[in-house]
Amino acid sequence: MTSQILSEQARAALPGGVSHELRYRAPHPVFIDRAKGAEKWDVDGKRYLDFKMGSASQMLGHCHPEIVQAVQRQAERSIFSADCHVLETEWAEWVNRLYPSAERARFTSSGTEATMLAIRLARAWSGKDRVLRVDGHFHGWHDHALKGAKPGSDTTPSLGIPQAINELIDVCAAEPDAMQKALEDERIGTVIIEASGANYGCVPLATDTLRALHDVARAAGVVLIFDEIITGFRWSPGGRQARDGIVPDLTTLAKVVTGGLPGGAVCGRADIMELMSNATKRNGIAPAVSHKGTFNGSPLVAAAACAAMPILATGEIQAQADAMADRMRAGMNTAMADAGIVGLAYGDSSIFHIHFGRDTIDGMTPAQIRSLPPVQVKAYRDGMLHRGVDMMAYTSGLTSGAHTPELIDEALDAFRATLADMIRD
Ligand code: PMP
Repeated sequence: MTSQILSEQARAALPGGVSHELRYRAPHPVFIDRAKGAEKWDVDGKRYLDFKMGSASQMLGHCHPEIVQAVQRQAERSIFSADCHVLETEWAEWVNRLYPSAERARFTSSGTEATMLAIRLARAWSGKDRVLRVDGHFHGWHDHALKGAKPGSDTTPSLGIPQAINELIDVCAAEPDAMQKALEDERIGTVIIEASGANYGCVPLATDTLRALHDVARAAGVVLIFDEIITGFRWSPGGRQARDGIVPDLTTLAKVVTGGLPGGAVCGRADIMELMSNATKRNGIAPAVSHKGTFNGSPLVAAAACAAMPILATGEIQAQADAMADRMRAGMNTAMADAGIVGLAYGDSSIFHIHFGRDTIDGMTPAQIRSLPPVQVKAYRDGMLHRGVDMMAYTSGLTSGAHTPELIDEALDAFRATLADMIRD
């Protein structure tokens, strides 16, 4: 298999042969050559139905013609000159129109940079260094985001992060009482929440709970950040905040906000966002909050984003993707019942997850939900991949505007065959 040879070659050039630690798969990752709609093909020409979709970034489907055309057209005009250009204003206007929390937007070069910037803004605004985050929620890989990212663990899953930084981060359960208790510490000025619940909703966050967490943060007077890097433009054109009417102070976006190209954004209240304006001087420093980044708001990415925005703004793509995820969840639950396997396919919007061994996740802790035996997760994922269906991570997958009922039914056939293997083994 060509991927095996390419992987050996890659290991000599890239640590672990990858550019992102989660791209590694034993015995070796599959090397993808091209992608279109909801399908992709590896270097040997094998076809896969895709439920990873560029780690949730390709909401319109791979290589959507309008995105390809916008990028091609812009590449001929200017790939990058590090100057102001009209597309970044147009893009920011879309974000500010669609996101209830957004009065200003600032573009970054990744989602990780977006949460890093939002936390810096919140600290500057509140004048307080301590940050409260929720157990298991993911906010990227920077030094201020990793503690607590693994459910049930209060430690940092990485060497190289100064203990002095870890000590500034508090972690609480996704429960209003727990947050209220944590916020009794008046040194905390920032709360950050993953809008879907941990790991794109693998540990769901009910709307009432999110609203209650919002109310607790509001009552404490801290700066509230919603990380909508997964839910943004997916759960609705205006993300979870527009869908459920729960509005934070600051919002982080990435993945879909760029039309699927590299980048991210922070948007939010004008008074906080204007701390980055050169016109705002605080304590003799202008701008009060420093934010740089060579490729922020690059015209190539802005062109893709501006092409994506009118398509995303109607909500039709999201409705199609949601319907396909519904079909997947229902089909998976039927397949497990038919096979005599106890399990639950669940999830919100266009995301689905499976929990094997229980028919409900009610009452389970985040650590319990994420504690399926690794061999079981691997058997499921490998069985699907072998049959040409690629999933996101753990037992999760997501749909896009390019998934059709026929493709879902094909994936469900692969699921039934995989379950049969899992029973046999
Ligand atoms: N926050 C959430 C909720 C995410 O899902 C991700 C990426 N999976 C990030 C932040 C980090 O974004 P990026 O990978 O673009 O740095």
